[in-house]
Amino acid sequence: MKLNERGLLVVLSGPSGVGKGTVRKALFDEYGKNLTYSISMTTRPMRPGEVNGKDYYFVTEDEFKKKIMEGGFLEYNYFCGNYYGTPMDEVEKALNSGKELILEIEVNGCRQVKEKMLDAVTIFIVPPSREALYERLKHRGTESDYQIQERINKANAEFGLAYQYDYIVVNDDVNNAADRISAIIRAEHARTRRSIYKYYELLGDEEDEQK
Ligand code: 5GP
Repeated sequence: MKLNERGLLVVLSGPSGVGKGTVRKALFDEYGKNLTYSISMTTRPMRPGEVNGKDYYFVTEDEFKKKIMEGGFLEYNYFCGNYYGTPMDEVEKALNSGKELILEIEVNGCRQVKEKMLDAVTIFIVPPSREALYERLKHRGTESDYQIQERINKANAEFGLAYQYDYIVVNDDVNNAADRISAIIRAEHARTRRSIYKYYELLGDEEDEQK
């Protein structure tokens, strides 16, 4: 029996190229029934194979800035030449549904979420080695040499931020990483501060039944 029935806000973060997206997809393939993904908004051009409204909401810079002015983002950041943000309405919709809400965002955005949502669970996904990350970025084939170097520089700066997170998960194998995240979610539900009220409620019910 799960004592805490409220969905958790889980942030998957980590350096660009670490495979956050692949891990997230594996997590949804295996455990997707109770999960919702927060679709971000971005001004980045669409990559081949990406679908508007599924991978991202692709918008113009003007549209993005308008939404900033309206206070429409839980968090947003300007990252390697483009804006990325988590629309507030996505978050509210998902948390109301009782499912775990999974955000996949870069480290600056994660810091903003943690400041606003104290209960959020933050997970830093790391590569098994720096070289593994460089190789991944180079072979992804989605960025120019300049953009790859920009992302490598950024990743190097971000490695040191791991201490700010609740958990660190090594992406040595995608399915293992997804399993570890699922285990973290289960453990978080059992945290005393999340489940104690429900537990007392249950005790109260039992007492009533014994009378
Ligand atoms: P990409 O261009 O490779 O899809 O994403 C670049 C980076 O932006 C990745 O680290 C990705 O996790 C992050 N990102 C995606 N959506 C959001 C978002 O809504 N907010 C923030 N802060 N970062 C995001």
